[in-house]
Amino acid sequence: MLPEKYSENMVKIVESDDSTLHFYQNVKENKLYCLTKGFDTKGIDDFCRMMHELDILEPGSLSVFDVFCERIDEGIINGSDENNISTEIAVKLTADGGYEMCHLHAFYRRDENGRITDIHYNLRPYVQKEYFYREVLRNFSSDKNPKIYTQQCRNVIDTHPDKDIAFIQFDVERFKLLNDTYGVEKCDDLLQFFNDSLALVCTDEQPFCRLTADVFMIVTPFDTKDELVAFIRKIESLLSGFGGMEYHLYFGVAIVDDRSLHTRRHGDNASLARQLIKGNAIENILFFDSSMKSDLQKKQHIEEDMNKALLDNEFVMYLQPKYSISSGKIIGAEALARWQHPEKGMISPADFIPVFEQNGFILKLDCFIWEQACKKIREIIDLGLTPVPISVNISREYIQTFDVIGEIKKLIEKYDIPQPMLELEITETVDQRGVEDIVKKMKDAGFTMLMDDFGSGYSSLNMLKSTPFDVLKIDRHFLEEFMDSERGRKIIEHTISMTRDIGLGIVAEGVETCEQAMFLSSCGCDSAQGFYYSRPIPAQDFIDKLKLSGSI
Ligand code: C2E
Ligand code: MG
Ligand code: MG
Repeated sequence: MLPEKYSENMVKIVESDDSTLHFYQNVKENKLYCLTKGFDTKGIDDFCRMMHELDILEPGSLSVFDVFCERIDEGIINGSDENNISTEIAVKLTADGGYEMCHLHAFYRRDENGRITDIHYNLRPYVQKEYFYREVLRNFSSDKNPKIYTQQCRNVIDTHPDKDIAFIQFDVERFKLLNDTYGVEKCDDLLQFFNDSLALVCTDEQPFCRLTADVFMIVTPFDTKDELVAFIRKIESLLSGFGGMEYHLYFGVAIVDDRSLHTRRHGDNASLARQLIKGNAIENILFFDSSMKSDLQKKQHIEEDMNKALLDNEFVMYLQPKYSISSGKIIGAEALARWQHPEKGMISPADFIPVFEQNGFILKLDCFIWEQACKKIREIIDLGLTPVPISVNISREYIQTFDVIGEIKKLIEKYDIPQPMLELEITETVDQRGVEDIVKKMKDAGFTMLMDDFGSGYSSLNMLKSTPFDVLKIDRHFLEEFMDSERGRKIIEHTISMTRDIGLGIVAEGVETCEQAMFLSSCGCDSAQGFYYSRPIPAQDFIDKLKLSGSI
């Protein structure tokens, strides 16, 4: 059964029930080979099972192998144009040795209608030369020595004159946070999984490469934009299959318009689009266009200036009062950061907060604002005024890794203020797990917890069932969009009454008109924050308002 040229020194160690799948040991080399004599399409399960039972796969290769089997399964069910597929996996080839890199090939045979009827598998260790090239590509195709990869990209452009070419870059959202949360080793495995999965999905005409830490690039020819997006979605779905971790991918795409440009320029454009789409809650693919360059420059300037800005006191805390609709009195305030740049004037938080959330600087800014809020509460008390609670924003970026409770407790002690005077706002998120536990801890530590931006996208009734929050802040977009129709108004009305029924407080954000305030009041929501009452104002102006209005 074994071809003559292979049979020397080969000893069969295991075969499948129907004798079509054989694992051989080469006793001279002491290596394992897998050969098949046609294996019908149902046999993929057996193949998968036997590989697992032999217990020869390196743990990191297990998921790659499973993806390989799934892909064959999908090809059998939905049809596939390919004649063979292959991947690389690390396998223990000798009883006493370590793992070695192997090629795993599946060759398809078809009937006259093109349907796959049987599959031959072949598992063989890398020959020396292949091993060398793999290592060269892995180690040196990074940005340190991009020669080989650059040449591959060039070839794709030059050998497809009649096709469009896309440079696709992707990376993982907040990879640093993943490293902190799951550990470097697990994250290395994730990157290895990406690498191995890309080897599976990309053909020779679609060279890919890991550029830096978590940034990968793929270059591909394509005919239509739909086809390109389908390819990216396929990559996304494959790459999302790494178990035990929550992560999201962001893709930047540059389509080659000028073929004479250096490939690095297209890579830079894809990189720019990738950086700009990061943090977007709705979309995760962005196509480059030339107007994006100035956006990135803006971002880079922010990063250049931020440290000095904190030292030079360019960041200031503004306070936006919260009002009781019925009494017209101030019942609280929210602390909001403002950046008074010496040359650029006032920079909006919408420009700098997302940048700080990406680069981690947000923690420094938040600690600064928390301290300013505590200081201000002390000042209000010292002035003999009745203090109102001031809420500060807590970003999700550091909530799992930084001791927020410890830090804020220290500040409360330092300024000797009553704890109920400092409230904490955390934004509602897609992934409330993890955050929920921490919010519970904060609540147990005696803080009043406000869920910020409720209704801005991810609300679920399920979340309301178990939420540890004390107060919901209705997002201003929710109010704005839903006030427009009868149906929308009913939804607001019932959201408010349901929230009250389950014992939560409620504050409406972004109240801009008297009509909105009256409507909210008629629905049973008495707390409002918005331009109708007051814009965010310097802390001293807030104190003046407090003196005038007389708080609760
Ligand atoms: P947020 O926490 O939801 O804050 C409310 C935002 O809505 C503020 O924008 C406020 O100025 C704005 N706003 C209030 N009333 C109205 C209104 O009637 N109409 C309109 N159109 N807008 C209104 P701001 O100050 O630009 O802050 C934007 C976001 O930036 C904040 O949303 C918060 O998520 C973040 N942010 C601001 N300061 C800080 C900070 O110190 N730390 C952290 N982590 N995030 C901050
Ligand atoms: Mg807020
Ligand atoms: Mg808000």
